[in-house]
Amino acid sequence: MSGSSESPIVALCGGVGAARFLTGLVAAVDPARVTAIVNTGDDREFYGVHVSPDLDIVTYTLSGHVDTTHGYGLAGDGYAVVDTLAAFGHESWFRLGDRDFATSYHRTMRLASGAGLTAVTHEIQEHFGAPIRILPMSEDLCPTIVELEGGKKLHFEEYLARDRAPDTVTGVDLSAAEHATPGPGVLDALRDAGTILLCPSNPVVSIGPILAVRGVRDAVVKSAAPTVAVSPIVGGAPVKGPADRLLRGLGHEVSARGVARWYSGLIDGLVIDERDAALQAEIEAMGLPTRMLDTLMKTPEISASVARAALSLADELAGSRR
Ligand code: GDP
Repeated sequence: MSGSSESPIVALCGGVGAARFLTGLVAAVDPARVTAIVNTGDDREFYGVHVSPDLDIVTYTLSGHVDTTHGYGLAGDGYAVVDTLAAFGHESWFRLGDRDFATSYHRTMRLASGAGLTAVTHEIQEHFGAPIRILPMSEDLCPTIVELEGGKKLHFEEYLARDRAPDTVTGVDLSAAEHATPGPGVLDALRDAGTILLCPSNPVVSIGPILAVRGVRDAVVKSAAPTVAVSPIVGGAPVKGPADRLLRGLGHEVSARGVARWYSGLIDGLVIDERDAALQAEIEAMGLPTRMLDTLMKTPEISASVARAALSLADELAGSRR
């Protein structure tokens, strides 16, 4: 299928970077065309409830309810639950807002009653009013484990939120994702996609787990749809988060060129930032056509222009295959 103006668009997504990109995407195309396949490698139980950080970031952002200062959580939320639990002596490093807690509590109760994560995600999406289809990559628990010097192994949220992302990464264990079954609708969405987009998300611990789920990487590679990524590395550094420490820890260069190599064999084109103009020719010489523009999504308008750039590159790639 070509990337025609009606064909389905499937986006592989982490959290904040992806959500900002999707906001631009739904401004550029009919949201009904868009399916987001979202990382659940960060999912974990906190305070007795099942928290799905990336699913909720995408849902809250696309429905206009996100706390824009943090990029996660709900705007205007309080922290009475977590602060009260802390006063009882519980660990409280994962700052889950009160209404955010209710979302996770709902998810936990529904999962306990036998509902699947995909159905519950749909309920939460309908409740908040996010206009696209949001699919968890898998309904199996697939924690991403970060390995550090000295043999320490941490759940990704312990690594990021509790220990503030130390620069001593030696490996990332995605074996849970590798054994997981894709969530309902995931492989079908990839099969029917006219365009596949890899959002500007952490390539190692957000896009990596999605691709690790059984059959997903293969479905992307075999798809006839053009696959375009947006580089999350701008000017040799991540815009936020620990992508630099993870890429470096795994022996990869922290640059748009490093991202091009990381996704080599998977993507057909790459959107890079204008601050990385010096790398454009080399990336194109790797056989990856590019689009280059300001990709720092500080405003909805910039998000939309990044989305349009990714789509126009995908359309050009589809056109050259016809
Ligand atoms: P989370 O937000 O930490 O859950 O993780 P994501 O998977 O969204 O990863 C954040 C990644 O997105 C980081 O590597 C950032 O560099 C990248 N990112 C965030 N905002 C932007 C942006 O405005 N532009 C670009 N190009 N990348 C971004």
